[in-house]
Amino acid sequence: MIDLKKLKSGNRRALAKGITLVESKLDVHRSQSQDMLNELLPHTGKSIRIGITGIPGVGKSTFIEAFGLHLISQGKKVAVLAVDPSSPIRGGSILGDKTRMELLSREDNAFIRPSPSEGALGGVAQKTRETMLLCEAAGYDVILVETVGVGQSEYEVAAMVDFFLVLMLPNAGDELQGIKRGIMELADALIINKADGESENLAKQTQGHYKSALKTCSALNNLGIEDVWAMINDYHQKAQNNDYFENNRAQQNSQWLKKLIQEMLELRLKQNQAVKSQLPKLQQAVLDHEITPYNAAQKIIDLL
Ligand code: GDP
Repeated sequence: MIDLKKLKSGNRRALAKGITLVESKLDVHRSQSQDMLNELLPHTGKSIRIGITGIPGVGKSTFIEAFGLHLISQGKKVAVLAVDPSSPIRGGSILGDKTRMELLSREDNAFIRPSPSEGALGGVAQKTRETMLLCEAAGYDVILVETVGVGQSEYEVAAMVDFFLVLMLPNAGDELQGIKRGIMELADALIINKADGESENLAKQTQGHYKSALKTCSALNNLGIEDVWAMINDYHQKAQNNDYFENNRAQQNSQWLKKLIQEMLELRLKQNQAVKSQLPKLQQAVLDHEITPYNAAQKIIDLL
């Protein structure tokens, strides 16, 4: 069992063990981890959760390292989690890798956890949400959730964080950046990274191209990093003062609840023996025009 006292006192080993339990696919672990989360729930919620996305090579890990070190210099404890849609295919995690954030990973006040592999109900998003709760219970003030800006996972991450950052390169036009329009719309702020050397002017032009772009930075040269934090901090305070912060989290939670209910229902259907035997027959009956699809669906639901 996980020592929850230790976890709450910030013990990294206990935290890591707790996350491993959350990530387990075994049913018995699933119920153990739910018990653990329920017990820890009163100690969660006090962090700011920041999502960070951008195409490979934009500088996410360099940025997270510079940003994380800045936060630690401000007295914060920082957790870095990753949602990596490509890891099940590649058979390994490319994000949240400690070797990519060498300086940060050596800090006592930083906790870096690579992406979990795809799993049961709710998938990686469920595990990341639960891992965030554990990190909060362990006293982490800022939780950075990293994802690659190429697929579905941005939507999932945007739906679980308080502030969503999209990192971009200093060349105008998101066609060039390989970022989808929809993802830009999720952003609370666009950050143009690599605004240094010969790219600095280009970055400024790009900033003009995106009216909503707020900041440029150089993660490599550690320039503009504190501005990004000041912006998020400012947002955090305003959002807390007008209750937007809590309301937003409550809404995220209830949407997640709905999604989980759907997934659980579907799973029940799939696992139900009567459904298993009746469904092929009803499907055939629909094909043979013996019953309407509506009636067939009703019969299936009645079996539950
Ligand atoms: P990721 O794939 O998005 O995590 O990108 P990385 O952080 O691994 O960075 C990709 C490359 O861009 C590395 O060679 C970095 O050194 C470089 N890089 C990152 N940030 C900056 C920056 O602000 N300026 C410059 N010039 N290079 C950077």
